Amino acid sequence: MKRRTSKRVKTPSGTERVKVHVRIRPSLPTDGSRDPNSTTPSTTTTMYQSQSQGKVNVITGLNNNGKNTHNTNDTKAFQFDAFFDENTTQEEVYDQVARPIIDGVLDGYNGTLFAYGQTGTGKTYTMMGNEQVQPTAAETLDERGIIPRSLDQIFGTMRASAEEYVYEVSMSYVQLYCELLQDLLEPDFSKTLSIRESAADGTSGSTDSGVFIQGLSSFKVNSKEECLNLLRVGHESRAVAETNMNAQSSRSHAAVVLNVERRPRMKLCTDAADQLLSPLKDKNAPKKTSAKLFIVDLAGSERVRKSGATTGVRFNELKSINLSLSALGNCISALSEKKRHIPFRDSKLTRLLQDSLGGNARTALVINISPCDADAGESLSSLSFGQRAMAVATRAHRNIEVDYKALYVNPLVLVGCWTTCLIPLDTTPF
Ligand code: ADP
Ligand code: MG
Repeated sequence: MKRRTSKRVKTPSGTERVKVHVRIRPSLPTDGSRDPNSTTPSTTTTMYQSQSQGKVNVITGLNNNGKNTHNTNDTKAFQFDAFFDENTTQEEVYDQVARPIIDGVLDGYNGTLFAYGQTGTGKTYTMMGNEQVQPTAAETLDERGIIPRSLDQIFGTMRASAEEYVYEVSMSYVQLYCELLQDLLEPDFSKTLSIRESAADGTSGSTDSGVFIQGLSSFKVNSKEECLNLLRVGHESRAVAETNMNAQSSRSHAAVVLNVERRPRMKLCTDAADQLLSPLKDKNAPKKTSAKLFIVDLAGSERVRKSGATTGVRFNELKSINLSLSALGNCISALSEKKRHIPFRDSKLTRLLQDSLGGNARTALVINISPCDADAGESLSSLSFGQRAMAVATRAHRNIEVDYKALYVNPLVLVGCWTTCLIPLDTTPF
């Protein structure tokens, strides 16, 4: 089939960077008994001091017979877009991290949201939250995470602007388990999917340029409820196994992909006639925007000793998770140092995130850390990862093109329309 060439309108784009936020989770009752191999209490204590405007100091001191001696000489200072302490609500996190990205998606900018950190630090809590259902007025705390809130914003905006625009939303759900890509909405795990890259250069005006998953199923969705149902279906297929770190620990990386198309609603009659009488003049031709939203819940990194897995399937899962996360770390390092070669091909995770890191997308990430002294090493390494990610530039541009679909309007409607507008029929463009 001949590929339609669409006339793309490029909008001026500035360089932005990946936005990085840090969230520390509250202490949990299980924190004290989590490390089964530790026989001695921690000899160091770590304080995370939130300064203003995303600055955080990490102060390490000796645990001297129960007395903490924090020497400010052992201070490491980090700078992020925001630091969320234990008391920060899901709504506050959403407003700062995700809302601007979703605003962009509705206006034609690709967006990526993801959480990074050790297992048990709150990635799934941040992304999905504890409750999928909005609480009633009697309940006070709304613990829904970024995914259900993003759906609220997308479908809420669609309803509010329905007179002006027509939207089309489709959804896919995929997991990366032991370097195998699997469709969570049409689970046939004997079949694995492959990642392809289209020949189109990454700066063209379409979302189908760049990296995509071949053969991934996609479902048209009309409401938040339909999306949540698909999430439930997919969630049941996700590889979740119990580890010592977190009884609900996800052993796969999972990504929800939403494609959002928006076209102006043709208002019969005058608007339609105006637009159709000058159909190919760029200024007047109807345009549509399209954007891809990619929300990723990463599996956590774990040290083999702490996970309790030393052989078998669990060990292989852990090896593959750590491998892909270290490949992600290497890409972030190379991007932040503006190296010429970025090793995206070292793992499927980095290939999947290729467009989100330095490509045509706006990206925001949450670094989740634990408040426990026993986890200080992992927390510091996650913070260093986040610090490097702050230096990664992105090249998001608005995906907007002439809406050819809008030009295929029922001729009978047009006859009615044009006669009302008293425009002679022989001016028809067909
Ligand atoms: P991860 O996905 O990083 O492995 P989870 O999101 O599963 O971690 O979180 C581990 C546990 O901590 C869960 O029981 C979760 O409800 C709880 N938790 C994480 N962050 C918070 C938070 N900010 N407030 C309350 N509970 C949290
Ligand atoms: Mg998780």
